[in-house]
Amino acid sequence: MDAPASAVELRQVSRTFGEVRAVDDVSFSVAAGEFFSMLGPSGSGKTTCLRLIAGFEKPDAGPGKILLLEKDATALPPFERDVNTVFQDYALFPHMTVDENVAYGPRMRGVAAGERKRRAGELLELVGLAGYQARKPGELSGGQRQRVALARALINEPKVLLLDEPLGALDLKLREQMQAELKALKRRLGITFIYVTHDQGEALSMSDRVAVFNRGRIEQLDSPSRLYAQPATTFVADFVGGANLIRGALAQKLTGQDGPFALRPERLRLGTKDAVAESQELSMIGKVLEVSYHGASHRYTVSVDGQKLEVAVPSSKEVSARLDEEVTLYVPRTALIAVAERGT
Ligand code: ATP
Repeated sequence: MDAPASAVELRQVSRTFGEVRAVDDVSFSVAAGEFFSMLGPSGSGKTTCLRLIAGFEKPDAGPGKILLLEKDATALPPFERDVNTVFQDYALFPHMTVDENVAYGPRMRGVAAGERKRRAGELLELVGLAGYQARKPGELSGGQRQRVALARALINEPKVLLLDEPLGALDLKLREQMQAELKALKRRLGITFIYVTHDQGEALSMSDRVAVFNRGRIEQLDSPSRLYAQPATTFVADFVGGANLIRGALAQKLTGQDGPFALRPERLRLGTKDAVAESQELSMIGKVLEVSYHGASHRYTVSVDGQKLEVAVPSSKEVSARLDEEVTLYVPRTALIAVAERGT
């Protein structure tokens, strides 16, 4: 028989806690081998979705179904699902050694001690922790603990690995290193990763596809590049990559339509007041309210007809617009993306 093409599928799944619709009629399908992220602000329903997949939560009564490897798993308890979860706080056993932590799953399944040790050694090697077998979690750094948690999940050879903000407790540099390691690990193992994060940069850089959550619903499910280039709603445009939203009078003035339009800060070009627009460029006059330095770019906040627009200028470009100076902003027509209005 062919291997299942879909690793996880949610069909019309809802989960309500009292008055709160944490997950509201959500449907999506994750392909086998995909790196799939659920991205959204705090409280948007990502973790509840992950817990539904793991079986720690049950969907509300109704049509909702959860399929794992194309089989109905809605009623299965967590231990009968071919998934493993890695949590932000690692959830390691503090009194056990690294070795014992990693070998926990096989021990519960009655695998012999020698075989357990051999497998744990292999997994620790895989996550770059060979030689740390005898340590206790308290003797490891945050990044090392997270690697132990990964090894402990992977030793069970799950078809699907669920990761709930697994890098949330790490500092930026370690986060970036672990992001690269997770991606490489996923490529080597070929298993499906479902990743929860509220960090848009993390979701964009790691995933094959990203589901953007807002108030228990998916606003857009797309590849990272499409999410960035073609946001469907004002919420997605703002949450993923921080777009300017052009509405009302300014939108009318520029395009003859009400908008809203999303406009990425790096698509705006900043010139002196009397500079000349290139063909196909729209222009508007504004006043510099703020300038901030971000290493690779300078950010200008420019007020245009009472609306604040963010402009990102690569630091390599010579632009010397000062505070309170009048400037002209140029926009290629194609940079204005029509989006649907959606409350943030
Ligand atoms: P975060 O990034 O903060 O973890 P999230 O997007 O993962 O947020 P969820 O944890 O899924 O969001 O929560 C969605 C909503 O459901 C929130 O309003 C939350 O308060 C509520 N909620 C989640 N779990 C429970 C629970 N066990 N009991 C009551 N309300 C809950």
